[in-house]
Amino acid sequence: MALLPHALAGDPNFWLPVQTRRGCAMDCSYCSTASIEGNILRRRSPGMVTQWLARVEHASFKQYYFVDNTFNLPPSYAKHLCRDIIATGRNPILGT
Ligand code: SF4
Repeated sequence: MALLPHALAGDPNFWLPVQTRRGCAMDCSYCSTASIEGNILRRRSPGMVTQWLARVEHASFKQYYFVDNTFNLPPSYAKHLCRDIIATGRNPILGT
């Protein structure tokens, strides 16, 4: 949590960016993701993401948004992540 901007903790106007995946194999012609992040998708486990989000919320960051290049890619991962977040019983404010 040392890298979180503590001065912004609890600020209702601040949304913390969260990236769960890097890289993409889709090769859309207009996109630079593969050039910047590679064309192999690497992802954190949904369990690891939800643990990190719990720590973020404990540090008073209640609003965050996913900056993943394509949130629903792959769909199975996105569903797993969303189900894990719901299963925590917390009530975060999410954006994509
Ligand atoms: S990140 Fe999205 S837009 Fe870019 S190559 Fe992948 S699917 Fe296409």
